[in-house]
Amino acid sequence: MAHCAYCKAETFLYDGGVPICLECADARDANSKPPETEHRIRTILTEALTEATARANAASEEFSGVMGDIPSALPHPDGTQRIHNASRELSAARKEVMQAHTRLTDFLSRGIIPEDLK
Ligand SMILES: [Zn+2]
Repeated sequence: MAHCAYCKAETFLYDGGVPICLECADARDANSKPPETEHRIRTILTEALTEATARANAASEEFSGVMGDIPSALPHPDGTQRIHNASRELSAARKEVMQAHTRLTDFLSRGIIPEDLK
């Protein structure tokens, strides 16, 4: 058994060759989140928001396109289905934007790390 470099408690845990006990490791992680982790999470969340926004814009254009087609497309049998699909895609894409936005702002303003990124 090694002894924790910080509190001298017995430990089997090493961090970069330095013995550290679970309690000290936890306390340290809570106090100072490694900057690269924070940076990584912020990058992931920002990119997710950018991608979701791009998808929503594309879905919005697709929806406008479908709606613009309608006069000439009627009485096309799948016209209604196309509207439904485009509309559903657009609202799903907008929902993703809102979720991505919430995840990013929760992290930036309150330090909340999404479960799937922990
Ligand atoms: Zn310790």
